[in-house]
Amino acid sequence: MRLIVDRDRCEGHGVCESAAPDLLELDEHGDLVLLAEGELAPEHRQQAADSVVICPVAALKLEG
Ligand code: SF4
Repeated sequence: MRLIVDRDRCEGHGVCESAAPDLLELDEHGDLVLLAEGELAPEHRQQAADSVVICPVAALKLEG
């Protein structure tokens, strides 16, 4: 399972960062950085799912 960011949709709200602090971070320009690329570790799946639900513009999704 992977966490995917739709960069065209993402508006840099950053609420996903609080839901998934181990996986997502806004850089100094407000661009979202994926801290864990590729297959999610089992301990990160709940954070990833929470970030998908909390993003106000549906820019995150789980794949696989
Ligand atoms: S909450 Fe959604 S729009 Fe905001 S930074 Fe995260 S992915 Fe982007």
